[in-house]
Amino acid sequence: MTLKITAVSVGRVFGLHKPSFTYLRGWGETLDIPLIMFVIEGGRFPVVVDTGADLSRAWEHHRIRMEQTPEEQPEAALRALGVDPREVGLVVNTHLHWDHCSNNDLFPNARIVLQKREIDFARRPVAWHRRQFEDLPDLTAAWLRAEDRIDALDGDAEVAPGVSVVSLPGHTPGSQGVLVEAGSRRYLLAGDCVDLYENWEGDAEADRIPSGFFTDLVAYEESLRRIENLGCEVIPSHDPLVVERRVFS
Ligand SMILES: [Zn+2]
Repeated sequence: MTLKITAVSVGRVFGLHKPSFTYLRGWGETLDIPLIMFVIEGGRFPVVVDTGADLSRAWEHHRIRMEQTPEEQPEAALRALGVDPREVGLVVNTHLHWDHCSNNDLFPNARIVLQKREIDFARRPVAWHRRQFEDLPDLTAAWLRAEDRIDALDGDAEVAPGVSVVSLPGHTPGSQGVLVEAGSRRYLLAGDCVDLYENWEGDAEADRIPSGFFTDLVAYEESLRRIENLGCEVIPSHDPLVVERRVFS
């Protein structure tokens, strides 16, 4: 069994403020970023990590300018890979921000794996984070459409052969990464614990840079240190270079 990860763009968002991604850095700069769905193939069934956003909600509910070509629609993107959404046996959401979990209902036969702490927080986020979790008076959060298939975990676990979730709190209370033992390497799909390569590579002031968006900066630092000890190559959640490279094996 040799696992392979493919990074698929399922939309792009435009004009985001840079300090939302690089903590207290890049004032006045804006950023265009991809939304990425990761597909892990080579096991008993395909595994999907993060399911992207719902384009129809982008502007009205999130005030985000988003674009999605027909090829970037999640179902079309999967079919182009030769993957039928019905054969996906497992979906992992790194966390429950709307741009990572809004198409969970596309996978009728998948077990959906999340940290229990994330679910609890998403149901009752702090006031300033309600929009990201779609905890809004006029909206039912998209992740709730597939709520009955969620398997809530408490910490690290192997969820399929060669695929493990690793608890990485900080960006959100129940953020998790996905460690994949691929052919020649071990990769970590870091979720928004590492948005961009820049977050992982750091700058003159700090060897790692957290996202500008978080619930616990102390836990966040521990999570970044934890990743260092995993001996893996880190794959960020929103870096355009990840889509360009596309295949990680
Ligand atoms: Zn996020």
